[in-house]
Amino acid sequence: MVHSMMDDVERVLISTEELKQRIADMGKQISQDYAGKEILMIGVLRGAVIFMADLARAIDIPVAIDFMAVSSYGAGTSSSGVVRILKDLDETVEGKHILVVEDIIDSGLTLNYLLDNIKSRKPASLRMCTLLNKPERRKVNVHIDYNGFTIPDHFVVGYGLDYAEKYRNLPFIGILKPAVYEP
Ligand code: 5GP
Repeated sequence: MVHSMMDDVERVLISTEELKQRIADMGKQISQDYAGKEILMIGVLRGAVIFMADLARAIDIPVAIDFMAVSSYGAGTSSSGVVRILKDLDETVEGKHILVVEDIIDSGLTLNYLLDNIKSRKPASLRMCTLLNKPERRKVNVHIDYNGFTIPDHFVVGYGLDYAEKYRNLPFIGILKPAVYEP
């Protein structure tokens, strides 16, 4: 029989419909908060791509987009704590309203580093937005301006989030079967 990605999923944590509804609300809130302004959204590659694409379309004020790539977990499931810029922005930040878009805040180390880095480039304002928040594993305190869902300490995949570069295209947030991680 053909192996489907769904066979690797233990359970769905956040459904497609829940994602859609919450992102529509976040888009409305952001549109109100930034009324009369323009935003430069900075997506953190690669996990934030799918969330950012949907969020941008839920916002009805002008949105420019750019991306940064930083090193994170590699193929494993726990943070190394080492953050390195793999791809920097193409746009300038100075004088712009910056909204950093993340897939998930776990230890907070990646975001903490990114916000400090972007702040040093003198934006007009700087806020952040994350689809998921896993507060149990926080190592540094970070302020989250827009939070999609707070979730318990599970390793999740789907809707942009991967395990070893797989499962990003699942249309929901799910938890994998333990067998997937076993060699
Ligand atoms: P932090 O620096 O906050 O510990 O981790 C942020 C990054 O780690 C996220 O952008 C994401 O790439 C990765 N990460 C953290 N938790 C998870 C998780 O549950 N699932 C997946 N797929 N990636 C995660």
